[in-house]
Amino acid sequence: MNVLMPNTLAEACDLCAKQPDLIPLAGATDLLVHWPLRQAEHDKTYLDLSKLRELRAITWAADSVTLGALTTYWDVLQDPRVKSDFPLLIESARQVGAIQIQSRGTWAGNIANGSPAADGVPVLMAYDASVALISKSGPRIVPLHEYYTGYRKSVRRSDELISAITIPLRTYDFSVFHKVGARRAQAITKIGLAMTRQSATPATWRVVANSVAATVKRCPAIESLLHAGSAIRKPEDFSAAIAADVTPIDDIRSTADYRRTVMARLLYHSLKGVNPAIS
Ligand SMILES: Cc1cc2nc3c(=O)[nH]c(=O)nc-3n(C[C@H](O)[C@H](O)[C@H](O)COP(=O)(O)OP(=O)(O)OC[C@H]3O[C@@H](n4cnc5c(N)ncnc54)[C@H](O)[C@@H]3O)c2cc1C
Repeated sequence: MNVLMPNTLAEACDLCAKQPDLIPLAGATDLLVHWPLRQAEHDKTYLDLSKLRELRAITWAADSVTLGALTTYWDVLQDPRVKSDFPLLIESARQVGAIQIQSRGTWAGNIANGSPAADGVPVLMAYDASVALISKSGPRIVPLHEYYTGYRKSVRRSDELISAITIPLRTYDFSVFHKVGARRAQAITKIGLAMTRQSATPATWRVVANSVAATVKRCPAIESLLHAGSAIRKPEDFSAAIAADVTPIDDIRSTADYRRTVMARLLYHSLKGVNPAIS
């Protein structure tokens, strides 16, 4: 295994420019999980980001908070302000793996890994997070809901690193995160849902689902239903919008039918009484 350990972000970008097939390494919880089986991976060259301490911080500004590319779930769980301003980050962090994974795994790694079952991505997307990408040719910002282009594919070029994730500070009067798995902890999500309502006039809804499409997916048809205030009297009233937004599959963890049914129930029971049109 070849590992490069840059001392600065500029040095890391130089290395990526010279060798675009380098594989960034943050907490390594995704990269090393299949290590014994994936012999071919052993000869690749890895870019260990762990010396870039400046990427670890959570930075609060007047209108946003920024998680560095090395911010872990545990760092977020320890920050009292996250709990009050972005409670869904706490909900999600608590349900990622167990403490060992939470203390090594990073939010940026969760995004970059590109799993449709990623639990950190839906809550970040429901808060309208954006991803800062950096390369030798400069930085750029991509809204997280535009980051994925297909199953484990993204707009990130191979010479780019995620340097940070920025979330705008807003006032929400409703937010919820559900993770449905085979058990309460250490389970890969069968269907997950993150929702926020920004308390502006008119209210702005975000609905994001995981494990029901090739990528974590924002759900514009469901958001439109909520914005329109359409009357909903039972979970099945969400079915058409669910069909428009997501494309679940049968796999070893669940079936497409189960995922659609549970998604409708999660939506209905989370929103009943919150949205006056849903009773
Ligand atoms: C036992 C176990 C339980 C788990 N449970 C969950 C769970 O419940 N929910 C969940 O969502 N995930 C879970 N995971 C997956 C994993 O822990 C998370 O996805 C974690 O956030 C990955 O972060 P990391 O820093 O370890 O990433 P790494 O393994 O270091 O990297 C993951 C991918 O991202 C790339 N990458 C990392 N950082 C950057 C960067 N700055 N720029 C560009 N690319 C980068 C890497 O090259 C790699 O492709 C689990 C894993 C294990 C082993």
